[in-house]
Amino acid sequence: AKARLLTLKDEPSQTLDGRRVELAGNIGTPADVDAVLANGGEGVGLFRSEFLYMNRPDAPSEQEQFAAYREVAERMGGKPVIVRTLDVGGDKEIPYLDLPKEANPFLGYRAIRVCLDRTELFDTQLRAILRASHYGKLRIMFPMISTISEIRQAKARVEAVKAELRAAGTPFDENIEIGIMIEIPAAAVAADLLAKEVDFFSIGTNDLVQYTMACDRMNERISHLYQPLHPSVLRLVKIVIDGAHRHGKWVGMCGELAGELNAVPVLLGLGLDEFSMSAGSILKVRERIRSLRMDEAQVLATEVLELDSQEDVLRKVQTWA
Ligand code: PEP
Ligand code: MG
Repeated sequence: AKARLLTLKDEPSQTLDGRRVELAGNIGTPADVDAVLANGGEGVGLFRSEFLYMNRPDAPSEQEQFAAYREVAERMGGKPVIVRTLDVGGDKEIPYLDLPKEANPFLGYRAIRVCLDRTELFDTQLRAILRASHYGKLRIMFPMISTISEIRQAKARVEAVKAELRAAGTPFDENIEIGIMIEIPAAAVAADLLAKEVDFFSIGTNDLVQYTMACDRMNERISHLYQPLHPSVLRLVKIVIDGAHRHGKWVGMCGELAGELNAVPVLLGLGLDEFSMSAGSILKVRERIRSLRMDEAQVLATEVLELDSQEDVLRKVQTWA
């Protein structure tokens, strides 16, 4: 099976009737790039930059971050790499940031909320990413966006840092794409409005499921309610994809759902453009996509949106295959 999958390493991620999507890998450190390339990844759809900040006594300097982003950009050899800006808080602790103890950390001071408040921390990271963008194809992505004002503020920081770099004669990619994660229902529902402000979306289903179902993703006792294929989640995914496409923007997914074989035909049928997952899943998903027809997947997607439970969705997808 391994050998069979490896023959697909350089084949396009394309359905039998010619719908082409992009299959990318999720990484936490530059070393993870090897596995993405070995498994035929067409890009990095999520570089969880917080790993550069974790398990150390202080924040990584601009130079350290620049070296890491540049290494990933160069080793991907021109394939796109989406660097997600610092996603701290929730379950991810970074002691030296002295974040307050909160009753509801997943609803609290985290990710872009911290970065917009601590602009020095944010600007340092943006400067490192922008400088590294000269050495490959980097994209910037902001996590945990709930309002259009957060997007505008974050973009204003990017513009400010770009102006500094320009003035200093430091090279960077002037046309670097900027996107946001869609992982909060408020952002999903308003996707058509937010799409005007960005170049792309990536749906973070790990958090989107948690917030949609009001179900802590770490809590075993209620894990039966954590349902990635719940029709409410799938309906939100549809709203996001349609809202982005209406404005000519593309949509990826970098939560676990993107690498679930049962979800692939549905996500494809809904029009997802890019799937980003752990490297070990890429070839299996490619094999699946190459066995499907887009027109049939579209019919399936329309049908599952009318079902009323995750069990029915799963049953439908499994019998359909
Ligand atoms: C997500 O929420 O789906 C996601 C990809 O981000 P993380 O798992 O790092 O929160
Ligand atoms: Mg998330």
